[in-house]
Amino acid sequence: TERSLVLVKPDGYRRGLTGEVLRRVEAKGYTLVALAVLTPSREQLTTHYAEHEGKPFYEPLLEFMSSGPVTAALIEGHGCIAGFRSLAGATDPTAAAPGTIRGDLGRDWGLAVQQNIVHGSDSPESAARETAIWFPTLG
Ligand code: ATP
Repeated sequence: TERSLVLVKPDGYRRGLTGEVLRRVEAKGYTLVALAVLTPSREQLTTHYAEHEGKPFYEPLLEFMSSGPVTAALIEGHGCIAGFRSLAGATDPTAAAPGTIRGDLGRDWGLAVQQNIVHGSDSPESAARETAIWFPTLG
């Protein structure tokens, strides 16, 4: 079965939405394989977001992501990579559909795209790469 690396970002953590995100993951039928609460290091974030280096939102994104704890979750289940991205909804919470995490819980304001509550791997390769970053002992 497939695995995906999910992050509840610092905005989700601060707003007390970690349990709500994990509840939706479990309600969908996915299994929690590993769970950790940690404040990301710069190195973890530059590796995780390497594909975005040089983009205008890159530095502010790293700053935001290191602003407090995140919850990293390794989840497992048939089709969970696309499945979790479907649960998460569109990147911009303003555009995300009701019923999705970002659509239901995301805030409609200036930094909504940056502070969009969750991250989920976008491919099996990303999932493997990201697992090594957030759960080095499992990577
Ligand atoms: P994620 O990979 O976190 O699930 P995603 O695949 O929906 O999100 P990406 O395009 O990979 O989105 O961007 C990664 C993250 O960078 C987004 O989740 C968001 O936090 C931030 N981001 C993306 N585009 C912007 C933007 N235009 N302005 C500010 N932040 C952005």
